[in-house]
Amino acid sequence: MKAIKVTEPFKVEIVDVPKPTIQKKDDVLVRITSGGICGSDIGIYNGTNSLATYPRLIGHEFGGIVTEIGENVTSVKVGDKVAVDPVRSCGHCYACRIGRHNVCSSLEVMGVHRDGGFAEYVTAPESNIHLFHKDFDESLLGLVEPFTIGVEINRRGQISKGDKVLIMGSGPIGICAMQVAKRNGAQVIMTDLVKERLEKAESMGADETVLVSNENLEERLMKFTDGEGIPVVVDTVCIPSSFEQAVQLACPAGRVVCIGLKNQPSQITMAEITKKELTIVGSRLNNNCFDEVIAGFEDGTLKPEQLMTKAYNYKDIMEALTMIQEHPQDVLKIVLKFEDR
Ligand SMILES: [Zn+2]
Ligand SMILES: [Zn+2]
Repeated sequence: MKAIKVTEPFKVEIVDVPKPTIQKKDDVLVRITSGGICGSDIGIYNGTNSLATYPRLIGHEFGGIVTEIGENVTSVKVGDKVAVDPVRSCGHCYACRIGRHNVCSSLEVMGVHRDGGFAEYVTAPESNIHLFHKDFDESLLGLVEPFTIGVEINRRGQISKGDKVLIMGSGPIGICAMQVAKRNGAQVIMTDLVKERLEKAESMGADETVLVSNENLEERLMKFTDGEGIPVVVDTVCIPSSFEQAVQLACPAGRVVCIGLKNQPSQITMAEITKKELTIVGSRLNNNCFDEVIAGFEDGTLKPEQLMTKAYNYKDIMEALTMIQEHPQDVLKIVLKFEDR
């Protein structure tokens, strides 16, 4: 079968590799129909993703159609449309024992630490396979994973009905977190430096947007919250100063959700955390969030079709990568379609 392999930084190839087979009784074999390209795939391609090792079959956002199942598999059958959770965990470390397997001490993400889903076929254990209950557009099956990042952010930030939420940054993760927050009944104000991104965010459901290069964010937040200050801040900008700002902006008893993976320190004043008794939490990958996203796709509250900027055949991976690198402001999500041509 064909697969997309990054052999070393800046070198990507369509390779022939053996088609995976059912090895264990709970294995499921999936014919991949679509995958989403993520910032971290770009990081593997250009050598800036410190977690990746080479050579690597990339792709952690992918879904498709079940073509074979192991003898113990009961939740899916041949022909079902599914999305595949790329998070693989050990099941017995502290994090796994307390139900937080997405931060397993020996965590492996398909497409990063081990081979991924930009391939014609993939096998994964039944517990990583999540069923669509309705017939769903094949080109969107690969877009569940980015929305699971949004669900995890919402869970970690305890975002619920009536909450007012600031999402800093209107890229794909910001947009996914926003649609999930809206689905949860929250009101969302979003920021960006690019006007077109904010227009897009508003068209996808953001209640208000702030062009931070032109407007005073604090004033807008005071207006948005009737002078109380913002109780939940999600930082998807992920630079040292944005984290500092998130902590500053959160109101007393507020929550701050951090998703950055950069190693540079931020200067945070402890008094700010103590005096306001802030809850500052990290949010990584997803902790069994796939079924919630599929429910959102199926009830129409989450809209993957709006996230997809453009679709390419997987053999045009170079063209897709070039598009993302040359027009980062115009792209939310590029989809790869795995079909013959
Ligand atoms: Zn991703
Ligand atoms: Zn573990």
